Amino acid sequence: MKPKKNYKKVVIFVPLALVIAVIAVMAYSYLIVLNQQIRTEYRNVNIMLQRAGKILVALDYGFTSYYETSLTASADFNIEVVDGVCQLSPKESSILTQNLAHSSPPINISYMMVGDEKYCNVTSDVTELALRKVTLAPIISFLHDLDDYVIGVHYLDDHGFIISSPKEAIQGITQEQLNTIRLKTFWQEAAQNPDVISVIGPSAFSEVLMQRNNMTLAMPVFENKEFQGVVVLDVSVDKLIGDLSPVAGKLRLVRSESLPLDRSVYLPHKLNVSYTNMDHYLYYHWDWKNELSQFVSDMSMGITVVLLAYLVTVIGALHLGTRVEKNYYENLASHDPMTGVLNRRGMEEFLKGKEHNTYLSISVFDIDNFKSINDTYGHDIGDNVICYLGEQIEKSIRSTDAVARFGGEEFVIYLTGDDRDVLKKIMLRVKDAITEKSSSVVERGFTVSGGVEIIESAEGCDFDKLFKIADEKLYEAKTTGKNKLVF
Ligand code: GH3
Ligand code: MG
Ligand code: MG
Repeated sequence: MKPKKNYKKVVIFVPLALVIAVIAVMAYSYLIVLNQQIRTEYRNVNIMLQRAGKILVALDYGFTSYYETSLTASADFNIEVVDGVCQLSPKESSILTQNLAHSSPPINISYMMVGDEKYCNVTSDVTELALRKVTLAPIISFLHDLDDYVIGVHYLDDHGFIISSPKEAIQGITQEQLNTIRLKTFWQEAAQNPDVISVIGPSAFSEVLMQRNNMTLAMPVFENKEFQGVVVLDVSVDKLIGDLSPVAGKLRLVRSESLPLDRSVYLPHKLNVSYTNMDHYLYYHWDWKNELSQFVSDMSMGITVVLLAYLVTVIGALHLGTRVEKNYYENLASHDPMTGVLNRRGMEEFLKGKEHNTYLSISVFDIDNFKSINDTYGHDIGDNVICYLGEQIEKSIRSTDAVARFGGEEFVIYLTGDDRDVLKKIMLRVKDAITEKSSSVVERGFTVSGGVEIIESAEGCDFDKLFKIADEKLYEAKTTGKNKLVF
């Protein structure tokens, strides 16, 4: 079989195309999984914000209508002035014994009330109001404890004091921060939108407390239609957008005006939480380099298998191709390309080391008057005649025998057998087979002449010598009338 010219390209590029197709399918499934993870995370964020909103509404309701009129005894608190700020926090023992021990399991309570220095004067009116509202502080603390992403719950009273949980959230506030709190966006927005939850940030009130990447949910508190202050919930955006999720670190939460316009925004999703005036988007931050390395690490097993399969296929196919090529060229060197039978070199190689039976024969066949066939029918038909001759001889001999074309329309046949007469008969049968059907190639048919030399194998097979004798006998056949074999 003649090897295809471009087989190396085919062997390399066809499997490569398959590899690319398989990797494309992998990339597609990677994207489907990623989309699912992102959407699940978006849903979770929505649920968490709904919860945060409900907490805020509950707190707002508490401050609007439910704080106890009896004030908490100031003796239950640690009261101290730190850098001009009055800090008031519960004595641990009083909390557990006073109201809760008989009805609730022990729960960590952490809150603090801060205000300016005058709040440390426990007999003043403002302190009395503050202490009254502090009765709701344990609830603030419970609500803060409820969810991981709620990192701070605050009540900021219009009189200038703040109740916060956990106490660490407010402990470091300075006098100046206390005084300017009403100028901050979250305060303004909450005060101007009494019916909805204002969502400010990422940052806002958290910024006052130097906590970055937090979002603030705020609602104003009214008592008898009089503005009292603001309830505030700080939400950690990092925790909200799933520090445990598979897409952790790649989701972003931004206000719509901060949504980037470039291609880094993948699957943008506008947040929609009841009773809030949110104008925020979640999106997945797409970075080709990261995504590619993530894809490779996620699919490393599959990719390795595909690449190995590719290498094995290509190396295997190249090896096979090389063998086919080698066989082809070896075949080319020992065979006659036109008829496919052996050439002179092929015959000589065939005879090298060949084990003969008792007798062997070398015959030379030549078409009679072939020139006139060429002249009458043309060179192409002449070629057909030569091919026909090769086929006929090959068909008539056994696999232990051999036929070779020695140029032109001259064929050499090797036979071996244990009976001299049988060899003669075979040669005559071959000759008859050729002439009988010769009219199937050229209308008028043709004949062949041959010289046949049969010897005992024991004498040794000197091919050149035997060929020369057979050729002389052929000459004899030609000169004594043609269409015959001379033995
Ligand atoms: P003879 O009976 O004495 O053999 O007469 P002939 O005409 O057959 O003479 P010869 O055997 O010398 O013929 C050889 C001719 O064969 C000469 C050449 O034109 C022709 N020939 C040689 N090789 C090819 C070939 O590959 N194809 C064709 N069509 N003709 C060839
Ligand atoms: Mg001839
Ligand atoms: Mg000839």
